[in-house]
Amino acid sequence: MIIVVKNSCDEKQYNNLVEWIKGLGLEIHESRGTHSTVLGLVGDTSKVDIDLISSLDVIEQVQRVQEPYKNANRKFHPEDTIIEVGGHKIGGDNFTVIAGPCSVESESQIIEVAKAVKQAGATLLRGGAFKPRTSPYAFQGLKDTGIELLLKAKKETGLPIVTELTSINHLDLFKDVDIIQVGARNMQNFELLKEVGKTGKPILLKRGLANTLQELLMSAEYIMAEGNCQVILCERGIRTFETMTRNTLDLSAVPVLKDKTHLPIIIDPSHSTGVAKLVSPMSLASVGAGADGLIIEVHNDPQHALCDGAQSLNPEQFATLMGKIQTILPIVGKLYN
Ligand code: PEP
Ligand code: MN
Repeated sequence: MIIVVKNSCDEKQYNNLVEWIKGLGLEIHESRGTHSTVLGLVGDTSKVDIDLISSLDVIEQVQRVQEPYKNANRKFHPEDTIIEVGGHKIGGDNFTVIAGPCSVESESQIIEVAKAVKQAGATLLRGGAFKPRTSPYAFQGLKDTGIELLLKAKKETGLPIVTELTSINHLDLFKDVDIIQVGARNMQNFELLKEVGKTGKPILLKRGLANTLQELLMSAEYIMAEGNCQVILCERGIRTFETMTRNTLDLSAVPVLKDKTHLPIIIDPSHSTGVAKLVSPMSLASVGAGADGLIIEVHNDPQHALCDGAQSLNPEQFATLMGKIQTILPIVGKLYN
């Protein structure tokens, strides 16, 4: 349920209203706007008498929210959420590019790629240390050493780092990580979602291979229900019958999610296509669709990458793409951040 309170409501009336709602055992999500304040009520709202609240002078509107996601719902929080990471803004009118290799492979590799993507204008560095692989015999990542190397690259370049958490047992290693990624395969690992919800760190939540947008929003809700509202959604392609691409990029996810939620939405053109030459056109299409950013795999030597070389751009290709993105951003009214 949402209650829209007029800004003419004085502090005493407002506090009385809030206390009364809390007394019903409900949690309140407050969003202050210039003309009104939206109170989002989370919990069993069946005890709330809509007619009684609507009759108060200071109330503009009371509405039941049918969707099962509450904190993530744009009705609860009409303005875009903007998440700040290392001086960069994600969401709203800002556009962000996260770039780096699929996996951290060595100190020289991650430092070289970090410097190259920074030079081309990326604002955050990605790199997998714990890799969820389909085969148990495939490279599983450098694990804690991978995190240490990412931190070295961060120190060297100043780029904040994004890396995937695959198990709550590794959480201690992530204290200096700027954004924790929850990968597609863990989108519905509810225990993991609850734990990252307790960290207070921004979370990059990737859509599962076969999950609906509503399920993605419900997973965001798990994180937010723990008090962490810094969730960045990521469309990374879904399973369809198509075999010419690794997955099918569902670009309509961007305008649909923009309508349903206030959370930032970024696109992963690398995992969604699986083909390096498709990364640039789909990145530009993502800008056109209104995405808040991109996460792109870049490798200094894609042919010899230990993971996802076929979809990785080399630094030159990435720099060319960044130039094109910068050219079209003003057309969609976004600022590079
Ligand atoms: C990744 O970002 O390296 C990754 C494994 O992504 P996804 O979870 O989308 O497959
Ligand atoms: Mn990858």
